[in-house]
This record gives sequence, structure tokens and C-alpha cells, in this order.
Amino acid sequence: MPNPPTAPQVLEAELTWLAGRFEPGLQVAVDAAGRITAVGRLGLAPTRTLPGRALLPGFVNAHSHCFQRGLRGRGESFPAGAGSFWTWREAMYELAGSLDRASLRALAFQAFQEMRRAGITTVGEFHYLHHERPGDFAFDEVLLDAAAAVGIRLVLLHAYYQTGGIGRPLEKHQKRFEVPDPATYWRQLEALAPRLGPHQTLGAVAHSVRAAPPEVIAELFAEASRRGLVFHLHVEEQRQEIRDCREAYGLGPLALLLARGVASPAVTAVHGTHSVPTDLERYLGQGARLCLCPTTEANLGDGIPDLPAMLGHPEQLCLGSDSNARISMLEEMRWLEHAQRLARERRGIVVDPQGEVAPQLLAIATAGGAQALGVPAGAIAVGAWADFALVDLGAPSLAGANADSLAAALVFGCDNEVVLETAVAGRFVEHRKPG
Ligand SMILES: [Zn+2]
Repeated sequence: MPNPPTAPQVLEAELTWLAGRFEPGLQVAVDAAGRITAVGRLGLAPTRTLPGRALLPGFVNAHSHCFQRGLRGRGESFPAGAGSFWTWREAMYELAGSLDRASLRALAFQAFQEMRRAGITTVGEFHYLHHERPGDFAFDEVLLDAAAAVGIRLVLLHAYYQTGGIGRPLEKHQKRFEVPDPATYWRQLEALAPRLGPHQTLGAVAHSVRAAPPEVIAELFAEASRRGLVFHLHVEEQRQEIRDCREAYGLGPLALLLARGVASPAVTAVHGTHSVPTDLERYLGQGARLCLCPTTEANLGDGIPDLPAMLGHPEQLCLGSDSNARISMLEEMRWLEHAQRLARERRGIVVDPQGEVAPQLLAIATAGGAQALGVPAGAIAVGAWADFALVDLGAPSLAGANADSLAAALVFGCDNEVVLETAVAGRFVEHRKPG
């Protein structure tokens, strides 16, 4: 479906984020299809001037499970023995088993709307909750519909889910996730293609080594590559998964993927919390990507990833809100750095070659995510979608910041309240009035 046209625009904000810094006096030209056609000191008559505003590329949330928004505030009390990822997973399964089309749509709409209000203009929805009734895939279109209603750009990362643990059948609520074989998987993906809205694309997923045997993961990846689709999967979030995988296959999940050839710039492994440097170096060396989800990994008590072992390839990193216990990309950026400071008792971990933290974090939260999702977005650049977040320079939390300190003030001192508007393909939506 083509994008419905808007009028061409020339935007002139007080400050514009370009090539890793905020600059005054820049113009951004956007065509009727919602693509950026020129950026710079263009000397054009602006169609909209934005004094007191900073224009940024919209944030890219590369990993979300929108239905888990329904768990917020639940599962946060801990009778003896209840405080692990695995007990949280039981609560998540209960929720997954209780949803119908209407309640899932309400949760998806809520989550996607919160994302836009947080400056997120693209979401990679890692979608494994497929069925209202056995085999119907009724929940897939619910997500397309909710995302279209919010106007957020959606990459539906359609998940393959065959087993309830390595070599184990699916349990009760896991039946809602079931994809029994690759043929069914590709048939459903093809059925979804004509249903996609103008800002929607598809990606391929194997949920994890828990949910798909390695030969099936390799087969899905090969077919995804043939079709030009990105390929995502959960990897090494929990030590137990690594132990089980070694026991079954003699290798941990990341090493197993490498042995099966599942590593390329189209591949994104989500978490890598317990991945070791030798595996990470081999994996990242092939151009493959990692998605980190700092607030979820903290909430679930997963652990702290070996970020220094990943930072030789910062352009291959991205961020996700994952369980949506909190939806704030500014907070994800902040926690990516803060967790490392706490663990390593030093400051300035996620730095670019100039020693700057904020531009590196912003690149991970925008361009890194866009590349992981295969969408031309995440940068104010010619040819990219005109997906923007508009920040209120008059916000109290930004008082005292100037063009040089603004990026760091945003990342370390602000939250969603500074985001006044977002645009997807040039269409702006107002979220709040200036502070
Ligand atoms: Zn996840």
C-alpha cells in the first residue's frame, strides 16, 4: 500500500541533530511521500519554523513484546522462591493465556501509543503470541491494526515457536505461540504480506534455542536471507538456557548459531547478557547485531552484559523496551551506560572515538535500531523516512543546556516529558504542550 501523500515540507528547527551534534540554522526538506530529500543550509522558505525546539530522528525500539505491557506493576511482589526470570515467565504465560483479540488490541494500542509519546517512531515487535484459538494466527492482524491506529512504523518480527524448551513439547499456554513447522511459518508470513499498512514491514524470527531446534533455526535463516528479511532471535539472556543448550548440543546458543552459519548483518541476537567475549568477537566480526534491553534485563534480574566486548562494533548495537515494564528510550540509553558504571566502578563506557557518550547512545537508539530492522530511518539524512522526535528546549529538565551539552542533558537528565511531537513519514502528532 503506498503512503498517502502529505504536502512537501521544509522544517527549520532551532537545533537539528546531524552527524552526531546539534546544529542551529539547518533546514530539512521532506517530500509528499514522507522521505527526506535535502538537509543543510538550504536557503528555502520554511513551511514550518520551530523556535525553542530540537529536531531529532525518532527513536527506534528494536525489540518489544507489546502484550507484556499488561504485566506492568504485576509480579513485583516476591513470596519465597518467586523472584526469578522463570517465575516471571509463569506470570507472563498466564497473561498470554488470558487474552482475546479485544484485550490484546487494547494492550498493543496502549504500548504503541506510549512509545510514540516517548519519541519512538519505529518499533520492532517480536511477535510470538499468535493464536486466539489453536492455529488461527488471529493475533497477528490485531498488532498490524493497533500499530496502524497509532501511526507508529512497525516491523512485525514474526516468531517461529515449535518447542516448549529444548526437546520438550509445548506446555499449556505456550500453545498460543505454536508454529509447528517452517512450511506453516512461511505460509502465514505470505498471508500477512498483503495486509501490511504503508508503514509496516515483516521480519523473520526464531524465538530462541529453547523454542526451535538448531537445524530449523538454520533453515529459517537461510530462507529469510533468500527473501531479504532481517532475522532476530533471543540469545543468552539466562544462564540456564546456556547450560541446557550445552548439554543438548555441546555448545552454548551463540556458538551454536555461529557453527550453523547464522550470523550476518541481517541477524540480530537479543540480549547476549551472558555471552562471552570470544563468541561475541566472532559473531560481531561477521557484521551481525546485538539488541540490548537494559531496563527489562534489570527488572528481570538477568545480569549485566559484557558491553566492552561489544563496543568494538558500536554500529551493530541497538536497544529495545522488551517487556515494556517501562517505555522510555531515554531511560534505555541512560541505563545502558549506568549499569556498566555501577558494575565497573568507572564512567564513560559507551563512548565514541571523541570520548563522547551521548552521541554514541543516540546512534545506538536510532540508526542502530533502524539497521537491525532493515528500515531506512534512524537518521536525518537524504533518502531516510521523515521520522522525527521534536524536543522542547524550554522544558524545565533542560534548563541550562546549550547546543553542546544538550545531547548529554537529554540522555542523562530527561524523560519522555521533553518530547512534544513525533512524526512518521512526515506526519506530525502532538503529544504534549511545551513545559
Ligand atoms: Zn524479548
